[in-house]
Amino acid sequence: MAEALGEKPAGGIEPLTYGLTPALGEVAWRPVQRLALFDLDDTLIDLRAAFRLWAAEFADDHRLGPGAADWLTALDSQDLPHRQAFFTQVRAHFTLPAPVDDLWAAYRRRIPSLVHCPAEILDGLSSLRADGWRVGIVTNGAADNQSAKIRRTGLADVVDGWALSGAEGVRKPDAALFEIAARRCGASLDDGGWMVGDDLAKDIAGGRDAGLRTIWINHGSAGSRHNADHMVTHAPEAVELLLRSRRSQGHPL
Ligand SMILES: [Mg+2]
Repeated sequence: MAEALGEKPAGGIEPLTYGLTPALGEVAWRPVQRLALFDLDDTLIDLRAAFRLWAAEFADDHRLGPGAADWLTALDSQDLPHRQAFFTQVRAHFTLPAPVDDLWAAYRRRIPSLVHCPAEILDGLSSLRADGWRVGIVTNGAADNQSAKIRRTGLADVVDGWALSGAEGVRKPDAALFEIAARRCGASLDDGGWMVGDDLAKDIAGGRDAGLRTIWINHGSAGSRHNADHMVTHAPEAVELLLRSRRSQGHPL
């Protein structure tokens, strides 16, 4: 049975966009609440740029010689499962005396000072909330590192809540982390919403499995195959798309 367009569900966030759901030969419109979850690293903040700064500092501090910063950046691009694996290889390659845990801890202390969130993104998230959206962050990573990034960049002031895998004991693409993020925003995944991120497995496939519509941040790699609902180059375009959906209420994006 088709739901009335614009009907506000009792106790929920006002619906914004509608998904086509063919049912028994008729078109049903399913309301999607105004909940927008965002990945953190390389979605809201440019971690790759911060990493290059860190790599140059680390190479200099440890006197690793020419080419070391590039080697670190190349290793980072291999997308190792976690930083412990990264620093295990770094320690072995450069025969560093410090334990892996110490190298990793030093990284977590330093990197939040090297990341920043562009004003355009901070303003965009504020605009979403002013438009009635609940805005959250869902990110994999160590709790101290990720929460320090969120606070130091000012993101903590412009979102409703966040879920960090290191604090919750569950990682994207597990739907449980998306559910926690939604709950921190005062919402439930039962009413749908949106996930925005740069990782096709963790953010897009994970978001879809959690029942969310998805926007893939592709950083210009438009040739890649994807199954996101939308593809944009950078986060501000995703914010604009969501705000535009508000203005086209009644029409599915
Ligand atoms: Mg990411």
